Amino acid sequence: MRRACTVLLLLLAAVAARAEDPVRTYAVLYDVRIAPTERAADVSIQLTDPSHWMRWIRFQIDPARHVDFRGNGEIRIEGDSVLWTPPRMGGTLRYTFRIDALRDERSYDARCSENWAIFRGDDLVPPARIRTDDFAKSRSRLRLRLPKGWSSVVPWRRAADGSYAIENPDRNFDRPIGWIAVGRLAVTRETVAGVRLALAGPIGQRVPRLDRLALLRWTLPELRKVLGDRLPERISLVSAGDPMWRGGLSGPRSLFLHASRPLIENDGTSPLLHELMHSTLRLVPADGGDWIVEGLAELYSLELLRRSKTLTRRRFERSLAKLAERGATAAKLEVPHATGDVTARAVTVLHALDGEIRQATKDAASLDDVVARLADLGEPVDGAKLREVSEAVGGTDLERFFTRYAPGALLPRAVIPAQP
Ligand SMILES: [Zn+2]
Repeated sequence: MRRACTVLLLLLAAVAARAEDPVRTYAVLYDVRIAPTERAADVSIQLTDPSHWMRWIRFQIDPARHVDFRGNGEIRIEGDSVLWTPPRMGGTLRYTFRIDALRDERSYDARCSENWAIFRGDDLVPPARIRTDDFAKSRSRLRLRLPKGWSSVVPWRRAADGSYAIENPDRNFDRPIGWIAVGRLAVTRETVAGVRLALAGPIGQRVPRLDRLALLRWTLPELRKVLGDRLPERISLVSAGDPMWRGGLSGPRSLFLHASRPLIENDGTSPLLHELMHSTLRLVPADGGDWIVEGLAELYSLELLRRSKTLTRRRFERSLAKLAERGATAAKLEVPHATGDVTARAVTVLHALDGEIRQATKDAASLDDVVARLADLGEPVDGAKLREVSEAVGGTDLERFFTRYAPGALLPRAVIPAQP
């Protein structure tokens, strides 16, 4: 009897452990060696999985950049897909990542030179679909092996052993997504509004790190007021001059900005703050929702400047008026990719929406609350979602507003005056 009870207890304990145990994990180490002479990175994905949670991983590769796959277990390459079935307890998959990527005929959005390399971690480890048992999660780390004298700037926490902890709470399989800069780098680090900033560029390239830091010191506290603890713990800003692409590109907790881009354009918008908004909000457009993602980034780049008193209200309004004029040529808002005129029109509409919500709530709520909620939702954004969230925040029916600015319909060509 006593023995039966013990067995029963053990069984119950095992069932309870299985029900409660949230720690169904396997370990992934991305071991990356940068080889500047080959303009490449040798990537080794080492999987440790004693409980055999992982069944397979299917990578969506770029066959021109991810080459020479080898390793143990079964590797099946079909066009732009690589299916890896690792051995039962784990194993290693290796490949070579060609770092250089041309964005247009002459300029690069990823590049490896003799003394530095800048690229996206999302490209280093391509997107993957996985099959695991019982929603097992990865514990992922990245180790960078660099030439002598090189350092790195990445948007992740450094562990005691020198590797980086890769944590994306919204994913089961953590990849090192975000911008990576390695090389002989000049780096400025500072904590602003509770965010650990790292600004980096290749030594000798005259990247204006302190100018940019100054702008962030004025504006990040204002962004903190909008996003609260949604602001990430760290943000890195990597930069280089020609032949890198002369623009700005955002990633999670990180962004790239060409060394020559001004802090603030003469029309009052800021490429740095525009990309910062993308990096921190991380809004993804649903079909036809790009105008919202781009419009919010552009409007808030202006708002942060106004609220930090970097721009006067008069200059802010002049910028809005200029954008309204520019946006008047946009035929409709719901387009696959928001071009300049659509983004400009989006700024006008979103600013008007802010006025509408403030009026409905007697200034108790604003577009800031909509932005924060959209960031929390983590769902693709389109006009319907914007309306739903705006109505919830404003506690009012916004049918009239959304009919007037119907995102899917052709817009009247008239200039909408900016609201004060
Ligand atoms: Zn943008």
